[in-house]
Amino acid sequence: MPIYRYKCKDCGEEFTVMHSMKETPEITCEECGSEAEKIIGNVGIAFKGSGYYVNDSKKSDNKAKTKWFWLDKWLTLLYNLIRIF
Ligand SMILES: [Zn+2]
Repeated sequence: MPIYRYKCKDCGEEFTVMHSMKETPEITCEECGSEAEKIIGNVGIAFKGSGYYVNDSKKSDNKAKTKWFWLDKWLTLLYNLIRIF
């Protein structure tokens, strides 16, 4: 199943969602619950490592989050899978 990146229209939070290409689920922001939009062109880079991290480096608190970064991403995936099915 393809992986998509979504970005919150409100707070700018970016996160990863896995769903079928046929599906267009309504994705809401994990942080604030606002509507999120698909980031075109980012499909498939989610697990390529440092480049991905750079994309998220806007936030100043990201260094502190590094330790939990991958765990957080997997939990995000699991969470969205559960929500979709
Ligand atoms: Zn948000």
